[in-house]
Amino acid sequence: MNITTHFWALFHASLHLFQERKFVGGSNQISECMARELGERVKLQSPVYRIDQSGDMVVVETTDKQTYKAKYVIVATPPALNLKMHFNPELPPLRNQLITRVPMGSVIKCMVYYKENFWRKKGFCGTMVIEEEGSPIGLTLDDTKPDGTVPAIMGFILARKCRKLCGLTKEERFKRICEIYSKVLGTDEALHAVHYEEKNWCEEEYSGGCYTAYFPPGILTQFGRVLREPVGRLHFAGTETATEWSGYMEGAVQAGERAAREVLCEMGRISRSQIWQTEPESTEVVALPFVTTFWDRNLPSVGGVFKLMGVTTVLCVVATAAGVVAYKKGLLPRC
Ligand SMILES: Cc1cc2nc3c(=O)[nH]c(=O)nc-3n(C[C@H](O)[C@H](O)[C@H](O)COP(=O)(O)OP(=O)(O)OC[C@H]3O[C@@H](n4cnc5c(N)ncnc54)[C@H](O)[C@@H]3O)c2cc1C
Repeated sequence: MNITTHFWALFHASLHLFQERKFVGGSNQISECMARELGERVKLQSPVYRIDQSGDMVVVETTDKQTYKAKYVIVATPPALNLKMHFNPELPPLRNQLITRVPMGSVIKCMVYYKENFWRKKGFCGTMVIEEEGSPIGLTLDDTKPDGTVPAIMGFILARKCRKLCGLTKEERFKRICEIYSKVLGTDEALHAVHYEEKNWCEEEYSGGCYTAYFPPGILTQFGRVLREPVGRLHFAGTETATEWSGYMEGAVQAGERAAREVLCEMGRISRSQIWQTEPESTEVVALPFVTTFWDRNLPSVGGVFKLMGVTTVLCVVATAAGVVAYKKGLLPRC
């Protein structure tokens, strides 16, 4: 059985990258607060299906038969969702092909609620990295509210497991998830959940999956250069176009700010060199950078050490064999 019930140092680091902080009240508050400030300008349930920049203004049409005109447009959807839009003039060849080559990931987010936070009592933090192939869940986090109410474990059904298990009923997934939590945490208490919620992101028509688009081998190297290259008066944002934290909220913000500055530059408000200017650090929410030592950054992994040892052994054997052959053929001076 290959189940990890405790933190691994390496995973600890990567989980931190992924879940450095949580928002009290949920991260959707960011969108909600921004939408409140923007008021009527935010249009929901209004998918864009056509973008025409053949005239003086860029014309955007939506499926609810609204038309919007602007001098510039920022497209901030995952690239693959541009396939639902018709462009006039057509997209340039590389961009047109890029958008068919960047699929969205497959994830079901699963919330299991309990009467009490029994795992903390057992000294567990609620984070599980489960590598067993038969486990529906690959990764969990404690999602209990900061004040200790609503004890819950959040887990992700990822990639091939998501595609395999989406055929089950919600109840079946719930049962299998509780069973694996019980096995990993070593207690039957995990079997007695009080509630279950899940969200299969693959079924979302205007997301196509999550957490982000992924780039199959060769795609970034061949098409990466057009990922955020403007097309006429169209500019591209969205987390996939970020240079840092691509696939995360942070990346989405970086990309949005960069695309906005591209437009400001086109409008003559800022210079080209200012497009990549970074925003000042927040003083309200101070960054918590990781402090790593030279050895943290440069020591090879365990696998790396074995590879190095393997390569060194092979080289020694080859060198010895070559030496013996050379000696026998009299190519080496004899003393
Ligand atoms: C389950 C889950 C867990 C995640 N966990 C984390 C996490 O812990 N930390 C983290 O940093 N990130 C996390 N992410 C990733 C994060 O949510 C994304 O990186 C971020 O939302 C990307 O923002 P975005 O603006 O680029 O794109 P999105 O938030 O995807 O916004 C794109 C918008 O475009 C809209 N759209 C699509 N097509 C059209 C169209 N034709 N017309 C008009 N609108 C359209 C969509 O409806 C959507 O609202 C998670 C994502 C998911 C799904």
